[in-house]
Amino acid sequence: MPNKPNPASRLPSLMEDYDPNAMSVAKAKLFIQSHLSPLTACEQVPIKDSLGRVLAQAVLSPAQVPNYDNSAMDGYAFNSLDIAAEGQIELSLIGTAYAGKAFDQPVQRGQCVRIMTGAMMPNGTDSVVVQEKVRLDGDSVSFSKPASSKMNVRYAGEDLSLGQTVLATGHLMQAADLGLLASLGIAQITVYRKLKVAFFSTGDELADIGQPLKIGQVYDSNRYTLHGMLSRLGVDIIDLGAIADDPDLLEKTLLAASQQADVVITSGGVSVGEADHMKMLLSKHGQVLFWKINMKPGRPLAYGKIGDAHYFGLPGNPVAVMVTFYQFVRVALLTLMGQTPVPPLPTFNVVCTEPIKKQSGRCEFQRGILSMNQNGWWEVKPTGNQGSAILSSMSKANCFIVLDEQTGNLDAGATVAVQVLHGLI
Ligand code: AMP
Ligand code: MG
Repeated sequence: MPNKPNPASRLPSLMEDYDPNAMSVAKAKLFIQSHLSPLTACEQVPIKDSLGRVLAQAVLSPAQVPNYDNSAMDGYAFNSLDIAAEGQIELSLIGTAYAGKAFDQPVQRGQCVRIMTGAMMPNGTDSVVVQEKVRLDGDSVSFSKPASSKMNVRYAGEDLSLGQTVLATGHLMQAADLGLLASLGIAQITVYRKLKVAFFSTGDELADIGQPLKIGQVYDSNRYTLHGMLSRLGVDIIDLGAIADDPDLLEKTLLAASQQADVVITSGGVSVGEADHMKMLLSKHGQVLFWKINMKPGRPLAYGKIGDAHYFGLPGNPVAVMVTFYQFVRVALLTLMGQTPVPPLPTFNVVCTEPIKKQSGRCEFQRGILSMNQNGWWEVKPTGNQGSAILSSMSKANCFIVLDEQTGNLDAGATVAVQVLHGLI
């Protein structure tokens, strides 16, 4: 049985001004979010393979880190009680402690041990004076009274205590986490299974790269930007190719995609042209929540469900594909992957050095180039032609200039919000 569109039953609190044809960006995000149930299936992976995966089980520290008090510097370990007196401190040197090779005799008052960074603090010592601050004369080590008595020691458990939550469920694994887990001796972790994302392009005009272009054709670039953006997120990618604007073919592909993937993404065919069949297919087979967003680029954007699969019908224009992916699809995929919480893309305000043309009444995501001026302040300028088909603007850009619905034309020198693309693209 196909699901009938019925947003009212699922989203009572969002219903007041529900309009599937003119959703605001903020409301559309809420709508999508309210329909996402994260993955539950999980698997064990070696930590080396866990980058970009989401923890399905919290990691508790099986030990304290560091495991023992050790020196933070190359220097001389001694008992801090020896510096109670004013003036010069003079100690006698009785041995050396290396990282991995402890000095295992007790150290008496008045004695010290040469110690390397990371070496275990010898018994009877609690402080290290750095080697640059001492005078060495045979076995005699002398230095002036330091500002603090216990210094240059990394104490056991000061990084992590035993049983402490090191990484919470829902954490997206990053490079530092791999090292952190290795520092605890943890070799394997439990992560959610990979999200499966199927996608295809739609359009009679699309040609595959490697083929000569016939008159009226364009190369299918959307599948490649989508491939790149999805690869960054570490999902399992199912590329179903470019499909002509043929309702039967599109229907078959859409159903096949929804059966093998958690998420189906298409590009093109969601506006109101005669060859735009996706809307009809979605209302036949799925539940559609909205069709149009009050934004540019990306006005025709569909979100719905086909069976258990989430469906994103992205516009055909190449820039619109990228903008809608970063504004809507990315956060949805991370949520489905189990990340909690998914932090919003960082946005900050900078001065725009050039005037901006902008129609008020809709949200715009213009492409911008952020750079540092001679005074050391970051500023932004638009990339030039802001057409939705100008893919080179995305390639040049290192940020989106985010202009809200109320904003109209802006003069040079206006302050604008930017979202940095670094790390995303
Ligand atoms: P549509 O949304 O299908 O009306 O397409 C809007 C515009 O985007 C048209 O100019 C299409 O030729 C172009 N377009 C659609 N799909 C792609 C694609 N996969 N690669 C490059 N351009 C595309
Ligand atoms: Mg089309």
